[in-house]
Amino acid sequence: MKKCMSCVVLAVVFLMTISFSLLSQDAEKQIVFLNNIRGSVYQVENAAGGNIALYLGKEDILMVDTGTDPDDAPKIEAALAGLTDKPVKMVVNTHWHRDHVSGNVFWAGKGATIIGHEKLTGRLSKKIKMDFFGRESEPLPKAGWPTVPFEKEKIIDTGEGKIRLFHVQAGHTDGDCIVHFQKENVIHVGDLYFNGLYPYIGVSSGGSIGGMISALTHVMKLIDDDTIVIPGHGPLSNKAGLKKYVDMLSTIQNRVSKLLREGKTLEEIQAVKPTKEYDADWGVAWMNGDEFTHLVVMSLSGN
Ligand SMILES: [Zn+2]
Repeated sequence: MKKCMSCVVLAVVFLMTISFSLLSQDAEKQIVFLNNIRGSVYQVENAAGGNIALYLGKEDILMVDTGTDPDDAPKIEAALAGLTDKPVKMVVNTHWHRDHVSGNVFWAGKGATIIGHEKLTGRLSKKIKMDFFGRESEPLPKAGWPTVPFEKEKIIDTGEGKIRLFHVQAGHTDGDCIVHFQKENVIHVGDLYFNGLYPYIGVSSGGSIGGMISALTHVMKLIDDDTIVIPGHGPLSNKAGLKKYVDMLSTIQNRVSKLLREGKTLEEIQAVKPTKEYDADWGVAWMNGDEFTHLVVMSLSGN
């Protein structure tokens, strides 16, 4: 009975996190706490937005992504104070979406250096139309922009191990950064991976379903069965979980491509239900199968 209750609580927390992250930014505030993933790598639990990871080094702290709600940043700072007296020296952004960068200004104000792919500043500094959602994303204040850009790769030597930041190719957006904690065998792949829900594809900022599949296929060659994979959204995963996700994306991409080549319209493609057998696992948390099919059509038809 006790076990069942904890399962229910976990399921509720997961669903709440997803809906807070993706559907409502006005949700009731929650307590933020830190969960040790492995070695020096931690995950922030209950912050709104994309998954935030922390590397607690002997001298300082590196943070990956900063969430949706700027008010979560001081809560994370308070939670960190319970574990370490070291400062957050570096913030790495996996990409520009506002649910991953909204705490940047706070951490920059605390002295952190913001690091990201060289395309990041261009995206953060202006309004961007997000066609699929029918809205525009406002620019981030300049104080939150990266001051240390990189193109392909940047290695951070913590003195205890190496953290490799790298860009494979345009995938979720054209400025994706993957963060590999090599010693701990933990990798944060950002929004290339939505675990348990259909992913958003940043078509209006250079992303594509094919790019996501290619980038993750590359990632799978770098990791092993013991690797902990941190997705952009959803619970922690591993190589087998990532493979299942990539297989799902590839199957849907192939089906939709074929239907487009046959000259089918969006409505006709949706009527065929190319996501059908995946909808129960991936199409419940936020985007349903028809919506994801629409996004894939946008990606493959270039609009
Ligand atoms: Zn994103």
